[in-house]
Amino acid sequence: MLRSVILAASRSTTIERLVAAAPFSRDVVRRFVGGTTIDEALTAAAELTGTGLVISIDHLGEDTTTAEQASAVRAEYLALLDALDRAGLAAGADVSVKLSALGQRFDEPAATGHARAICAAAAAVGGTVTLDMEDHTTTDSTLDILQTLRADHPSTGAVLQAYLRRTEADCRELATAGSRVRLCKGAYAEPESVAYQAAIDVDKSFVRCLNILFSGAGYPMLATHDPRLIAIAEDRARWFDRAPEEFEFQMLYGVRPAEQARLAGEGYTMRVYLPYGTDWYGYLMRRLAERPANVAFLGRALRSRD
Ligand SMILES: Cc1cc2nc3c(=O)[nH]c(=O)nc-3n(C[C@H](O)[C@H](O)[C@H](O)COP(=O)(O)OP(=O)(O)OC[C@H]3O[C@@H](n4cnc5c(N)ncnc54)[C@H](O)[C@@H]3O)c2cc1C
Repeated sequence: MLRSVILAASRSTTIERLVAAAPFSRDVVRRFVGGTTIDEALTAAAELTGTGLVISIDHLGEDTTTAEQASAVRAEYLALLDALDRAGLAAGADVSVKLSALGQRFDEPAATGHARAICAAAAAVGGTVTLDMEDHTTTDSTLDILQTLRADHPSTGAVLQAYLRRTEADCRELATAGSRVRLCKGAYAEPESVAYQAAIDVDKSFVRCLNILFSGAGYPMLATHDPRLIAIAEDRARWFDRAPEEFEFQMLYGVRPAEQARLAGEGYTMRVYLPYGTDWYGYLMRRLAERPANVAFLGRALRSRD
């Protein structure tokens, strides 16, 4: 219930203005966002990689509505990849890209062209690209664009959301040699017709999907902070004889840093999703929807305004 209210608020421009203007926002944002500029993102990236973690950097922003905005997002990613390269941080780094930020909703061919340019720039500096998955109305289009991009850039990563009923079938399709697939629970408010609603059903689906990915030939990227699912993944990796370099764990910047360090210390690849930029509202609201404790944190900060 609280989750759907917050996710509804994530689409309200009035609430966005209120939250953006509130003095508490800086602290809440700092907890989950690695800065507003490329330079700040590089500083956060260097801190993470210095402790043995790897990164996927995301330039915050989604649902652009004009061709100019979409071109600006492409230019930002090209500048980011160039800056990562000059800082010696590009090799093995990943960038996470939302196709809606590149204009997927109003010009799919142009969005594909922008994504292709970002994939080429990432390949040129030794990095990779992962296409974030957004709400279910974009899933088919995103998977189609993925296949187009993989013709030239086979390392382009997919994201599949365990809460969608279709995802087991998508896992089977994508569990092919060299295929990088991030498995997450899913962060959007989705109808019962397409998505499991109960947390336990999402968790069971995550485990079924994890088994399909581990038993296939691809490279699973397990994106969860859930202690039970992480323990199951460690167990399944042993069962399927997956060496630590044959899959990875992923978590969000600022969430369970001690567990991130533990997994890296155990020899696993631990990739941290590092968002940066000024357009943090939608991202922050999805994080709040996931965790009531974060909402309490926000509530305390709101009251402290008086
Ligand atoms: C790297 C990465 C990339 C992602 N990409 C996408 C994407 O492209 N599309 C998409 O829809 N979603 C994406 N997500 C978000 C994902 O779908 C979930 O919404 C999000 O990860 C929360 O789910 P969870 O698996 O962590 O479990 P939850 O059900 O949120 O939490 C399960 C348990 O994890 C622990 N936990 C969770 N958060 C915390 C915390 N802050 N502090 C301490 N313990 C905590 C608690 O024990 C909690 O009970 C991504 C997530 C990650 C990590």
